[in-house]
Amino acid sequence: MSASRWDRVADDLVGVLGAGAVRRERPIGPETTYRVGGAARVGVSLAADADLAAMADVLRVHRSGVLVVGKGSNLLVAEAGFEGVAVWPGRGFDWVAIRGTGLCAGASAGLPVLARQSAAAGLRGFEWAVGVPGSLGGAVRMNAGGHGADMAATLMRAEVADLASGCVEQWDPPRLDFGYRRSALADHHLVLSAEIGLSAGEVSESQAIIAEIVAWRRRNQPGGHNTGSVFTNPCGDSAGRIIEAAGLKGHRVGTASISRKHANFVIADRNGSADDVHALMCEVFSRVWAEFGIPLEPETRLIGFASGPWSVQAG
Ligand SMILES: Cc1cc2nc3c(=O)[nH]c(=O)nc-3n(C[C@H](O)[C@H](O)[C@H](O)COP(=O)(O)OP(=O)(O)OC[C@H]3O[C@@H](n4cnc5c(N)ncnc54)[C@H](O)[C@@H]3O)c2cc1C
Repeated sequence: MSASRWDRVADDLVGVLGAGAVRRERPIGPETTYRVGGAARVGVSLAADADLAAMADVLRVHRSGVLVVGKGSNLLVAEAGFEGVAVWPGRGFDWVAIRGTGLCAGASAGLPVLARQSAAAGLRGFEWAVGVPGSLGGAVRMNAGGHGADMAATLMRAEVADLASGCVEQWDPPRLDFGYRRSALADHHLVLSAEIGLSAGEVSESQAIIAEIVAWRRRNQPGGHNTGSVFTNPCGDSAGRIIEAAGLKGHRVGTASISRKHANFVIADRNGSADDVHALMCEVFSRVWAEFGIPLEPETRLIGFASGPWSVQAG
């Protein structure tokens, strides 16, 4: 699309969402945990009471791609940016409610907050989420997990807007079709809220589990700008072990390096480049493929890049 076409997209979105909600060339990269990467041609801060059907009409008329952005803790956005409309769930999406043993929250509620609040309310089963710095919406889309649990284990339902049609529906677990770090949700689906079914427990037990998880993460995972695990674990193995075995710990491409603490973490330098992170991921893939014949699959969502070597191998 030419610049003037994106101006028209932005103008039409202003018509349905208001001027304060829409911004041309809104940066995404600095809002991700990598703190690097480009901008969306148009960015929208979506309020919970926004007219989704009217917004969907605008996206459809302009045939615009859409990217929902949560906490950006699993996103790598190319320096060239995203050719489409990025949507941030904003005002009215960060509520949390505990009803009996049910934990209900809006899309932008943070997982660590939800883990601590449910533990403090005497609910067991969501402690694992304290170490995942994502939003509830992003966690549903990704089927985030850790420490032997994942979203699929306790999610009861999610309220999902289809940004292609404007329809809002309740999705149950069979429809979400969760797998390892995946769900049936596509790029045009926006999780509005979700309900998690927990069990009654002792506050002190849950808080002890949380403390242990926080300590484990500090011991085993690096700091710095990263998105956690870059590649998913191949069946029965660990991507970190394989990358380390390929001799890549500490390996650097420009402003991006493989963590010396955990080889499945890529660290971006301050003021670094998302394209360097991507180039390093491509090199890791190629070296591991050449050495072991294992096709690593990115866990980090890659936005705005030409397809990497992984898609060629997958084909
Ligand atoms: C230090 C660190 C540790 C991590 N540890 C773990 C871990 O142990 N386990 C794990 O699973 N992940 C881990 N992650 C990765 C990340 O936190 C999870 O994938 C998380 O679920 C991403 O949520 P987010 O809100 O940041 O989503 P984003 O990164 O913003 O987006 C990720 C995907 O979800 C989509 N999305 C975001 N919000 C919504 C929404 N409301 N509706 C629909 N789609 C949406 C995006 O379009 C994108 O496709 C870690 C990341 C970091 C930085």
